[in-house]
Amino acid sequence: MPADRPISLTTKIEDLPGLATRNILGLRELGLANLGKLIAHIPLRHERLEAEAPVEELEAGHIVSARGEISATRVVLRRPQRFEAAMMDNGRRLDLVWFNALYMRDKIKPGMRLRVQGKATRYGPGLQIANPKFEILHDEAEPAQAQSRIRPVYPANERIKSQAIEQAIGGVLDLALPLLKDHLPKSLVDKHELPSLPRAYELIHRPQNEGDAEAGRRRLAYDELLLLQLGVQMKRAHLREKLRSPALALTDAIDKRIRARFPFTLTASQNRAVSEIARDLSLSTPTNRLLQGDVGSGKTAVALYAMLMAVASGHQAALMAPTELLAEQHDATIRELLRDSKVDVRLLTGSRTDRDATLADIASGRAGIVIGTHALLQEHVRFKSLALAIIDEQHRFGVHQRAALRAKAQDAGTTPHVIVMTATPIPRTLALTMFGDLDVTVIKGLPPGRAAVKTRSVPRPKRAEVYSFLRQRLDKGEQAFVVVPAIDSREQTDSAATVTGVRALVKELEGGALQSVPIAPLHGRMKSAARAETMHRFRAGEIRCLVATTIVEVGVDVPAATVMIVEHADHFGLAQLHQLRGRVGRGKNPGVCILIADEPLLVSPTDSPLPNPRLELLVQTTDGFKLAEGDWQLRGSGGFFDTRQSGLSSLRVADLSRDRELLELARRDAREWIERSPSLSLPEEALVLRRMMKTFGTELGLVAVG
Ligand code: ADP
Ligand code: MG
Repeated sequence: MPADRPISLTTKIEDLPGLATRNILGLRELGLANLGKLIAHIPLRHERLEAEAPVEELEAGHIVSARGEISATRVVLRRPQRFEAAMMDNGRRLDLVWFNALYMRDKIKPGMRLRVQGKATRYGPGLQIANPKFEILHDEAEPAQAQSRIRPVYPANERIKSQAIEQAIGGVLDLALPLLKDHLPKSLVDKHELPSLPRAYELIHRPQNEGDAEAGRRRLAYDELLLLQLGVQMKRAHLREKLRSPALALTDAIDKRIRARFPFTLTASQNRAVSEIARDLSLSTPTNRLLQGDVGSGKTAVALYAMLMAVASGHQAALMAPTELLAEQHDATIRELLRDSKVDVRLLTGSRTDRDATLADIASGRAGIVIGTHALLQEHVRFKSLALAIIDEQHRFGVHQRAALRAKAQDAGTTPHVIVMTATPIPRTLALTMFGDLDVTVIKGLPPGRAAVKTRSVPRPKRAEVYSFLRQRLDKGEQAFVVVPAIDSREQTDSAATVTGVRALVKELEGGALQSVPIAPLHGRMKSAARAETMHRFRAGEIRCLVATTIVEVGVDVPAATVMIVEHADHFGLAQLHQLRGRVGRGKNPGVCILIADEPLLVSPTDSPLPNPRLELLVQTTDGFKLAEGDWQLRGSGGFFDTRQSGLSSLRVADLSRDRELLELARRDAREWIERSPSLSLPEEALVLRRMMKTFGTELGLVAVG
C-alpha cells in the first residue's frame, strides 16, 4: 500500500493491514473486494458458542460444548435411519447421533478431532447429543472456547469459512467504522430509536449479546426497507405527476353494451372491481393497478370490460400473457365473447405466420384488441393509440415489462393505463412492498356454481391406493393430470427416495396401474407443435391422463379434468400447488387434488412423523389469500412469491415475515419523505438517493426516471 494514501471504503482488501493472504482469494470470490464491501457483508445469523468443558464434567439436560477424537462411527439403516459416532475425551466417551443424515458418513471419520455443541441427554450409562453442531479441529493447538460468547455466522464459501470472515472483519472494523457516513437524517434515527449507521455495523459484527445483534440488524433492515420504499414511492410520484393517459369515457349505453357480451351476470365482487377500474380509466392520471383474484375468480371478464372501454373511446387495448398457450386461450375466449361484434381481435405471438398483416392492423388502429406474449413488447410493434395494457399473471413479468409497455406511448408524455392481473394471492402488505406503485383491487370468491377442489395429502407408502383411485375415476370417463417435479428421475442426496420423472412415470403407469388407458407426457422439452397436439387431444378426450411437469400450472383450462395428482408434493411451493389444483374441477364435475408427500423427516427416535405443515395448510384452506398468509408465516416471503425483479430479492437483511412492522414504518416514512421531496434532489439527500439507486434502481426500473 502506498504509504501516503489513507484508507477509505474503496481501499482494496489486499491493501488492508492484517488480512491473511490465504483469505483474500476467498473474500474476493464472495465479491468482497474492498473495505466497504467487506463491512457490508452481513451475518446470516448469530449463534451462541458455549464454553467448552471436559466430557466427564458434562451434565444431561444442558446445552454443552466439548471436544475429542472420533473413535468409531456407524450407519444404522433400520428406522430411524441415523449416523452414529463415538467421541473420546480423556478416556470418557460422548455419543453423537445424526438422524436422517446418512451423508454424515462422508464428513466424519474415525481419527478426526471435533468440537461439538448441543443438548446432552442421558444415554445408557453415558451421555449423548442428538444432531449436534460440529466443527472439525484441523489444528491440534486450536484453543478451547473458554467462555460462552455470541458469534456472527457469515455467508461463506468453499475457500473461506465463516470463522475466517469473522476474523477478517473483526480486524478491520475499527478502521472502517469512522469512515461510514449515515444517510439517514438524525430526526428519523431518533424517532425510531435506531443506532447510527456505524454503531449498527459494530453491533451486528461484534455484538456483546443477543440484544446487540438484534439492534444492529433492525437498523440495517429498516434501512433496506426504507430505501426500497423510497424508490417505489418516487416512481409512483413520477408516474402520477409527469405522465398522462387517455381519459376513457363510460356512459350507461356503453356499460350496457359491454355487459350484454357476457353470458352471465357479473358477481358483486367483479362489479366492484369493474367500477374501481372504470373510475381509474376515466382519468388522465395513468392507471397502475393490480387486479388480484384467485384461480377461477373471473378476472378475464373484468379485463375484457376494461378493454372494451378503451375500444369504445376509439382507442386500442392490449392483453399480454406469459405463454403462447395462455395467449391462445385468451384469444379463443375473447373472440367467442365478441363474436358478431365490430371489435377486431388480433393475436400476436412469436410463432404466428400472419405477423406482417397483424402488425399493419395494429399500426393502423384497425385491431381494437391485441392479445399476445412478450412479442408485444418488441420495438417494431407500433400501436396507433394504445390506451390500456393488461398484463396477465404478473409473477412471470417484472417491472421491466411494465416499463416497456408504458414506453409504447404515442406522443411524448402519454402512456397507456396499465392493469396487472395475478392469481397469486399476495398479502396486502407484501403487495404494497413489491408493487407499492400499484393500487390494488381484489376479486373475492368464485363465480356461483363452482365447488372448491377437495384436497388430500397422502404419504408415499399409500401411493398404490392413489393410483387405483385414479384408475376408477378414469374408467368412469373423467380426465386427470399427474404432475411430477422433473422430466428425468433423479436421486436425492439426503434421503432414500428417488424423485420420479415424467418419462419414468409414464412407463410405470402404462405397464401397471393405468394399463390400456390412453396417457401421454407433457413437458417443456417437447417441441411446441407436439405439445399443442397433445393438449388438443387431451381437450378432445382422446388422451385421458397427462403426466406432466408444472407446465400445466398456469391457466390450462380443460373443463373435463377432475383429478390432479402431485407426486413429491413437498418439492413444490404452495403457490404452485394451489395453481395446480386450480386446473381441475373447472367444468360441471367437482375436482379432487391428491398430494403425495415424501416421507416426513424424523427429528428424533421418539418423535412421531409430523405431517408436513405446508401441505396441511393446503388441505385445510381453499382460499388462496389465507393460504398465502399462512405460508408467509411459515416460510417468509421467499416461499409463496416469485420475488425476482420486484426489488425484494435485493433484501439482504430484512425478512418480510419477521419485519412486517418495520416495513410498515418504512413505508410511512418513505411516503412522507417523497411527498415533501418527490425526487430527493436536496443536497442533504444526495447520499440517500445514491444508495437507493445503487441498491434498487435497476430492479425498480428507476434509471429512466432521471
Ligand atoms: P381467472 O380469474 O382464473 O382468469 P376466468 O376469468 O378464466 O378466471 O374465469 C373462470 C371461469 O368462470 C370461466 O369459465 C368464466 O367464464 C366463468 N365466469 C366468470 N365470471 C363469471 C360469472 N360472473 N358468473 C358465472 N361464471 C363466470
Ligand atoms: Mg386467467
